[in-house]
Amino acid sequence: MFELKDHDGLGRLGVLTVNEKSIKTPNLAVVVNPNELSIPPKEMMKDFGVDLIITNAYIIKNSKKAEKIERKGLHDFFNFPGLIYTDSGTYQMYSQGNALITNKETLDYQEKLGSDIHTPLDLFTTPSDNKKIARFKLEETVKRIKEVKTKNYSAPIQGGSYLELRKEACKKVSKLPATVYPIGGIVPYMINYNFKQLVKVIIECKNHLPLNTPVHAFGAGHPMVFSLLTYAGIDLFDSASYALYARNGKYVTETGTKKAEHLTSLPCTCPVCTSHKPRELRKFKYLVRHNLHALMREVRVIRQAIQEDKLFELVYSRAMSHPNIYYALRWLLKNKELIARHDPVRKRSALFWTGGLSDERPEIYYAMKQVKSLGFRKVPRPLKLVYPFGQSLGWSVNYSKKKYDDLGKLRLIADYQFGKGAGKKLIPKSVRIIKTRNQRLHQVYLDDELLFVVRARDGYCSLHSAGAERIKKYLKKVEAPEEFKKFYLKGRDVFAKHVVKCDDGIKPRMEAGVFVDKKLVAVGEALLSSQEMMGFNWGTAVKIREAIS
Ligand SMILES: [Zn+2]
Repeated sequence: MFELKDHDGLGRLGVLTVNEKSIKTPNLAVVVNPNELSIPPKEMMKDFGVDLIITNAYIIKNSKKAEKIERKGLHDFFNFPGLIYTDSGTYQMYSQGNALITNKETLDYQEKLGSDIHTPLDLFTTPSDNKKIARFKLEETVKRIKEVKTKNYSAPIQGGSYLELRKEACKKVSKLPATVYPIGGIVPYMINYNFKQLVKVIIECKNHLPLNTPVHAFGAGHPMVFSLLTYAGIDLFDSASYALYARNGKYVTETGTKKAEHLTSLPCTCPVCTSHKPRELRKFKYLVRHNLHALMREVRVIRQAIQEDKLFELVYSRAMSHPNIYYALRWLLKNKELIARHDPVRKRSALFWTGGLSDERPEIYYAMKQVKSLGFRKVPRPLKLVYPFGQSLGWSVNYSKKKYDDLGKLRLIADYQFGKGAGKKLIPKSVRIIKTRNQRLHQVYLDDELLFVVRARDGYCSLHSAGAERIKKYLKKVEAPEEFKKFYLKGRDVFAKHVVKCDDGIKPRMEAGVFVDKKLVAVGEALLSSQEMMGFNWGTAVKIREAIS
């Protein structure tokens, strides 16, 4: 079960629940090798906040500890009450070159170990595979996914660099009720820092995968790309890198890796770095712990950035640390239409225009598209009150000179928000406009009935029932079943699983009308995009503000 809590760009805050264990996403599945426990999983949970680990069934099967692990089960053996995800051994077989385990064997074994999420033995596609081979591997992988008998499993997407094959793979697996969709075969892009190709593959998959399931970038383990990949819609990462880098004497930071032997002062405030000298960080036991802190910190920074609607600013700052991240972001922003579809219509923080790629932001793209749809070439001045025009720093907007009275301002804002003509319909001349003490437009009444409130934070209109009733023709419609009408009339929210149909073009935080039998019954705020409302079975689709009396 996967529930969406918030959005920014294609980035999502979610909650994934498997076997009654819930984790937040985006999240990092920390790779644990039972043969080399560099940090015990119990310590990972207690001191690092790790609640998801991934371990490898193939490695366990060939380990000296196999018997003990089989007897105790993974959770007991690792003393880890969080989620345990198992990999099949695909990568080991790819790197060792011969088939040493079958699909059935690995699946049965993962079940025996008591893993929470099982992974079939997919066929790893390399960048050098030709299309014929890539297609064969894709089809064989899909066949193997279909052999999974357990409830919670991952359905890997193969297809290599061939985007049309990735699309085909997505279409095939999207019919299967998987718990996670891992995008496979991306390790070579990570190793070569080919982040642009990586993002191309991810976007192709995001375009064709169902939205109600988390997507895992299988093998993406460097924190410098986590925010970029989150912005492209990735929900899960995994990392063996914290230990691999430490073994090679590398100190991981969110902007790159450094040689531990070159450190003269530690650019980090994790518990390891604040209690040790730079020289001591050359020791594996300290370096591996710092590295894991660095990874987990970036995951938390990303979650907070989504919460504040600052994910773009975060990705952009990471893009300044490596040209390949910059080029990948530049390519990603060509997909504005896709990003804008799920990006909230108004945000909690001001848009910071910081040059370069800022003009390509989906927020600006959507806002200018709305302005054009009203027939304006320059931005009308009243929009200075509205996100993102008014709530931005550094962005020089080309405003028209025309002046508007209060009625004109409000009508224009309503047109911008609901479409041309909505302003006149919503706000007749006889309205009473209430301003705040410092002359900000605040509330609009008609015959003592509140039509709407102008939000202080972003200038958007929050409709009340009388206002919604006046412009129901312009409102984005969400249709819900008759049997729940009584709840909506009491102000209860509309759950995604109850949405029967909805208009296209709903973005999170837009005003939405709830309709039962073609009648408007309530007005509120959409928490999901149109596609998400139709795709999700969990969570709230529309937060009701007021029922229509
Ligand atoms: Zn540190």
